[in-house]
Amino acid sequence: MDNLTTNYENIWKEVKKGLSLELPPHAYSTWFEPILPIAINDTELVLEVPNQFFFEWIESHYHGIIESAVKKKFQSDVSVKYTIAPNGINGSKIYFEDIDSAKPQQKKRFKSPVLNEHYTFSTFIEGANNQFAKAAALSVAESPGEQAFNPLIIYGGVGLGKTHLLHAIGNHLIAKKENFNVISASSEKFTLDFISGIQKSNTINFSRFYRQADVLLIDDIQFFQGKEQTQEQFFHTFNELYQSGKQIVLTADKYPGDMQGLQDRLLSRFHSGLAVDIQPPDFETRVAILLEKAEQNGLNLPYAMTEYMATHIKNNIRELESTIIRILAYSSLSNKEIDEKLIKRIVKERLGKRFLAEITLEDIVRRVSEVTTVSEKDIVGQSRKKELVEARQIAAYLGREILGASLSSIGIYFGGRDHTTILHACKNIEEKMKSERRIKQLVESAKNELSAATL
Ligand code: ADP
Ligand code: MG
Repeated sequence: MDNLTTNYENIWKEVKKGLSLELPPHAYSTWFEPILPIAINDTELVLEVPNQFFFEWIESHYHGIIESAVKKKFQSDVSVKYTIAPNGINGSKIYFEDIDSAKPQQKKRFKSPVLNEHYTFSTFIEGANNQFAKAAALSVAESPGEQAFNPLIIYGGVGLGKTHLLHAIGNHLIAKKENFNVISASSEKFTLDFISGIQKSNTINFSRFYRQADVLLIDDIQFFQGKEQTQEQFFHTFNELYQSGKQIVLTADKYPGDMQGLQDRLLSRFHSGLAVDIQPPDFETRVAILLEKAEQNGLNLPYAMTEYMATHIKNNIRELESTIIRILAYSSLSNKEIDEKLIKRIVKERLGKRFLAEITLEDIVRRVSEVTTVSEKDIVGQSRKKELVEARQIAAYLGREILGASLSSIGIYFGGRDHTTILHACKNIEEKMKSERRIKQLVESAKNELSAATL
């Protein structure tokens, strides 16, 4: 046995050595150093990777290269499989050191005033809805300019933490690297700077300013839509930075490919990088966020009330946060105790008509459970029984269809399945809806009920 162990470790070492000669050093150190060989037999080599995100990246970008290197070494048809480290992301050295606790002593010369210093990785609460986005953001903050992530585009709905992550990258870099030039702007500011450059007949300063960035962070690029000249400027800035290996990170309210009014050449630049989405947080994440925000604000929330708030305020973290602030403000202004009645009233007031009206993956699972009579637990569970798999696939399909959730985040929600399984599920349901009336009806009735709930 021992022999075999040293054997595969050695084999992997040699494969790695070969790869290190083939790949750019930063790609090699980001993606290959953290991989551990954990098992081997005549037909398979199993490699352990730090997290799901890592796995998807390796699988889609480096699988071919790894497999052919392994085959060459073995001189036989060994396939390569991956497994995710059991302690997941938190166990990963490169991604999750306690980066924010280090006391920054650097000059803050380049610190952009628009970075909110409270938006750090350590104050960002992780859940299935945002963990890819966070892992990607951290990876960029650790090694900016890493080609594979350039540009990194974080997209998702309002109040879900896009700006928080964008600034966390900036704050992390500033805390870590001396004289690292981080330039951060909203796309509106970028536009305004450009316009004021034109007004002063001095766009050179504008160009110079943005092009001196080592890392350029631009928030909410949807505001570039329809602004031809600004896009033109952005395109040139982008190209120049990109070509000199500088890191660009953008946020957007939807998948850039789905945006109207962006030039094709900009979109094709975006395609060369990585787009990661943030979905609305699930119930547990909402509770975690509420507990954290309550603590930060010195509010002692009874747990039942945390659950109450998390049940009703679903799609937006900003709203969770501001509800807490409002509770505090209300109680101190009116000198009233913070009790259940007050909390319920404020939640209802805040949500108005939207009280209970926003859809999440949880709602989808609940509705699918109603129409298929498969329990919610089974839908997100592991059983391979035919009718359970079917219900699960319908729910996954609706998650994609109604919420536009990413394959990976749906996969995590449905019992830690990988993105290819979810892709297969969605395709399968699409096909079946064409040929099986029953499936079509199930999907439609689940969908109708869900839309009724949002009225
Ligand atoms: P977006 O840019 O997506 O509209 P923001 O980044 O402005 O959203 O986030 C809204 C608020 O919610 C901010 O105060 C942010 O700190 C907070 N927030 C968002 N996501 C998280 C999270 N995962 N953990 C903690 N706070 C969060
Ligand atoms: Mg924002």
